[in-house]
Amino acid sequence: MSSLEGPDEDDPRGKPPVPDDVQDAIRTLIRWAGDDPEREGLLDTPARVARAWKEYCIGYEEDPAIHLSRVFEEVGGYDEIVLLKDIPFQSHCEHHMAPIIGKAHIAYLPTNRVVGISKLARVLHGFARRLQIQERLTAEVAQCIEDHLEPRGVAVVIEASHACMTARGVRTPGVSMTTSRVTGCFREDARSRKEVLSLMGFA
Ligand SMILES: [Zn+2]
Repeated sequence: MSSLEGPDEDDPRGKPPVPDDVQDAIRTLIRWAGDDPEREGLLDTPARVARAWKEYCIGYEEDPAIHLSRVFEEVGGYDEIVLLKDIPFQSHCEHHMAPIIGKAHIAYLPTNRVVGISKLARVLHGFARRLQIQERLTAEVAQCIEDHLEPRGVAVVIEASHACMTARGVRTPGVSMTTSRVTGCFREDARSRKEVLSLMGFA
């Protein structure tokens, strides 16, 4: 098991200890929500919630750029768009700490550097597993690829639903939000932009 994976819930060994003040904070929240943190079903909940939050936010423990450090420079003259489509991800909104669940499409037009395709998803998860807003997540993924692969252009489109909208507040299930960030040729050239968006399934 890599250190980036969370602890196995069924394995009593290897569970990281949770400091008392963190557990107390969760007990306070349970009380605030209207329940009794001392009742049997909730006794282990504070520690579980605390460990779950470490896992949701594991992205703070890594620099996502690390996934782009191993590049392949022999691209065999390939000069077309590289696209990873429909990458599922989960994040949490920084305003309500509520789940953001969605999918991302990440594309770039390489110059002379490409990465293993799964690395694009790892970059996404590195930024998603933090407290986020969707706009910043989109921009951070695009900027990271821009900075480390120096491609001719990057296009990132994220579609996600926000539990803070669907489960509370205006309670509008089914609503999703789309954000995009395009750079380089995808920003400057309308034809390239149209091509990448149509490969992603838009337009
Ligand atoms: Zn929110």
